[in-house]
Amino acid sequence: MPHRPPSVDALARTLADVDLPHALLVDAARAAIAAGDPASARDEAEALAAALLRPVINATGVLLHTNLGRAPGAPAPAGGGSGTGPVRYSNLEFDLATGRRGSRQRHAANLLARAAGAEAALVVNNGAAAILLAVTALASGRHVVVSRGELVEIGGGFRVPDVLAASGARMIEVGTTNRTGVADYSAAVTADTAVILKVHQSNYRMVGFTASATVAQLSHLSGPTPEGPLIVADIGSGLLDANTPWLPGPPPAWLHGEPAARQTLAAGAALVTFSGDKLLGGPQAGVLAGRRDLIERCARHPLARALRPGRLVLEALQTTALAYLRRDLAALPFWAMATLPVSDLRGRAQTLVTNLHRAGITVADCASVPGGGSVPGMEIPSAGLLVDGDHTAALRAWCPPIIARAHDGSTVCDLRAVDPADDPALETALAAVTLP
Ligand SMILES: *Cc1c(COP(=O)(O)O)cnc(C)c1O
Repeated sequence: MPHRPPSVDALARTLADVDLPHALLVDAARAAIAAGDPASARDEAEALAAALLRPVINATGVLLHTNLGRAPGAPAPAGGGSGTGPVRYSNLEFDLATGRRGSRQRHAANLLARAAGAEAALVVNNGAAAILLAVTALASGRHVVVSRGELVEIGGGFRVPDVLAASGARMIEVGTTNRTGVADYSAAVTADTAVILKVHQSNYRMVGFTASATVAQLSHLSGPTPEGPLIVADIGSGLLDANTPWLPGPPPAWLHGEPAARQTLAAGAALVTFSGDKLLGGPQAGVLAGRRDLIERCARHPLARALRPGRLVLEALQTTALAYLRRDLAALPFWAMATLPVSDLRGRAQTLVTNLHRAGITVADCASVPGGGSVPGMEIPSAGLLVDGDHTAALRAWCPPIIARAHDGSTVCDLRAVDPADDPALETALAAVTLP
């Protein structure tokens, strides 16, 4: 133990009410003393505590908010029996029937395959990992044919041409930015073609003089043998089924032609890849689903081990997959929020306005968006509160932090992504920050 001047320890002890391990309070005290400003130790410690991961209330109206963890947290892992204490093992890679080693891909992956109508599935760390593994395992050293209109950047620097370069496959671009037809693909397909890659333009839309080939049209280029070019479709957001059987009503209008795993496979894709935490509404993960022999090839590739998810993710994803198969909307928080009737939201907003009873706070209609780079331009009618003045910084500093939108010098709190259980917390915060 290094010698610790008593003043550091004494200062750290005055911070004992800040919810941090003592060692970090000592660090804050030491840094403040070294900076010649012992009084700053409290700010330092509080800033450190505030920066830790913690729940926030999402009043932005962006349901899949990339900065707020994308899909809202999946509910607690399934499974009865013990497991409420701190010691918790699971049969992650253990076959309970035989007592032998099992596969971590047997649980969530199998359930998702079932829900998507696929022969098999494989779970990896995220959507980018899924497409990287698919093209590396299936096309390294061979050709991947892709439309110039689909060489997209997803965000965070993830660009399809870069992924293809990293995979060791040779990218064969066809068509033009705005128009690519079946003939463009068929002219490029040779014996060297391993994969025809379709990439969903998930985060932007092209309008006007455009054309593209569908998976169904391209499926005729795959040839009669399983050795012909494979159609791999990166559908992105993880809509499992365009018919949304987990919803009580018809598919919502805002889905607007979003590609779905089940229908893309039925149209002739050998494999689809998608994210776990966009429209699927689960934890961060990537999923490959489709032909069993191809899933097995991907699973055997050394990259699969490097890209595999951890147990916490697989447990949460299993819970999500079971909810789809049970058609249990309440256990799919994204879908439950996205399909709440706007009249419910207006009612909650009215209750808040009545309770707050303050000039400058009114019920307002607004528009939520699915977000997360999914279905761009599509809005979900919503309702919330319109508050005079920009209080967004004060709400962010509240405990729990509330993330609202500033609009023309006012504050908008969209209730669609706010858990009704958090309405009282929102009310308390608004009462405090709007005090005259
Ligand atoms: C979001 C997305 C990805 C990347 O998925 P992550 O889970 O964010 O890594 C890849 N392709 C498409 C089409 C996407 O929409």
